Amino acid sequence: MSDHFQDLWKVAQRSWESGVLPSAEDLARARASLPTTLPETGAGLEAVQKHIMGDIVPAFNGGSLSPNYYGFITGGVTPAALFADNVVSAYDQNVQVHLPNHSIVTDVEYRALGLLADLFRLPREDWHNGTFTTGATGSNILGLACGREFVLQKAAERKGSPISSVGEHGLFEVLHALGLSGVQVLSTLPHSSLVKAAGVLGIGRANVRDISRADDPLKFDLEILEKELARQDKVSIVAISSGEVNTGRFATSGLEQIQQIRSLCDKYGAWIHADGAFGVFARVLDDSPEFATVKNGGAGLELVDSITGDGHKLLNVPYDCGFFFVRHPDLPFNVFQNANAAYLNAGPSSGPSIPSPLNIGLENSRRFRALPVYASLLFYGRDGYRQMLERQIRLARAVYKWIYDHPAYTALPVASSKAELVDQTFMSILFRAKDDGLNGELSSKINATSQIFVSGSSWAGAPATRMAISNWRVDVDRDLAIVTKVLDRVAQ
Ligand SMILES: *Cc1c(COP(=O)(O)O)cnc(C)c1O
Repeated sequence: MSDHFQDLWKVAQRSWESGVLPSAEDLARARASLPTTLPETGAGLEAVQKHIMGDIVPAFNGGSLSPNYYGFITGGVTPAALFADNVVSAYDQNVQVHLPNHSIVTDVEYRALGLLADLFRLPREDWHNGTFTTGATGSNILGLACGREFVLQKAAERKGSPISSVGEHGLFEVLHALGLSGVQVLSTLPHSSLVKAAGVLGIGRANVRDISRADDPLKFDLEILEKELARQDKVSIVAISSGEVNTGRFATSGLEQIQQIRSLCDKYGAWIHADGAFGVFARVLDDSPEFATVKNGGAGLELVDSITGDGHKLLNVPYDCGFFFVRHPDLPFNVFQNANAAYLNAGPSSGPSIPSPLNIGLENSRRFRALPVYASLLFYGRDGYRQMLERQIRLARAVYKWIYDHPAYTALPVASSKAELVDQTFMSILFRAKDDGLNGELSSKINATSQIFVSGSSWAGAPATRMAISNWRVDVDRDLAIVTKVLDRVAQ
């Protein structure tokens, strides 16, 4: 197995050195090789391996493997995580019920969640609760589901209604009993998946409401917030974009702002969910002045009610892995309990009470996706992850400085000075070409080089290009040279 693993690892390294995207020929050849019907007889392992490695793998992209892929925030796969992920597949453990005498897997998953809480400086006494998910979208669904349960419970307490649980009675009956027309989510520049979560949960996409300040679409207008929280017809969940996907910036800056939001939400019985898919990593940074503004963006998250984080982004573990922290240990059980399945009871246990994952999250049978997280956290420790993140931020800032001074490009959002722009920068870069013609095709021109890969986006109503730096292999000097060479060439 070890040889096989080494071979795969080597092949994977090779696949990105020739460029981030597969060639059109490789894609066409792979597509033509796909069978159109199920064969009656099996081909045997060797033939299947040959087909996958020879036809399909060449048509993969290097999104996670190349440090010069700056499209989606894909992260990569650290060596420790890759090793552990292979162990996960080989041993195929099902992490759904805590059965302490049958397997160690639920213990490892629970410990891994605690290590993550440590990484993000979330005090364990409040935050060692939650679960591993398939990604930040899954975590956002959990966050809004817990929030929905909580805010309706609070409303039921106020009105003395015995019908209070969506998990038990369903949304219709609870709203009806409470004389409410719905639940709303108050946010600023929420990630699309948060809006999706509202759609899934019967809150409704149209009930995700923008409460931003007129002068900054990412910052809360506290007056509007209070007005919405005070509504009599709706109950509210506040969703903080702790790391906005276009700019990498944060909806709040500093403990005091979260405290203000917290006290308003306490006054009106609202829940606060923070989408920190990548932004929660700001809390890995130390107190050096170089990163003070970014660190401030993640400050105060210990005061919210639930937090989304992604494993397959900045943690650099394989897809599909996210995590969800919640400060109210009993609440997920109200929503996600796998009721009336006596055969799934864990029975009495000694030691810490580790909840059965099937009762606190979406899935019953689950992949042991916590093991790559556990392995990578032990491999790097807090220092290793901090240094990785610092390299990512330093590269983003170096690219931004270069763009700021370049005659053909404009750095976005427009800043009052280069110093301010750099100070605000986390691991995302947003920019456009000054020439409108070039700007319209900027990202496709950059991507056509296959040397780096960026995302087409938009900002303030016009096309913009985004680069997100998330790979563990980032090397500031090497990658700055590659990026600036490509952007120079495209500008000519
Ligand atoms: C990526 C991202 C998501 C969605 O995460 P998936 O892992 O793709 O499900 C949600 N929120 C933010 C802020 C993100 O960056």
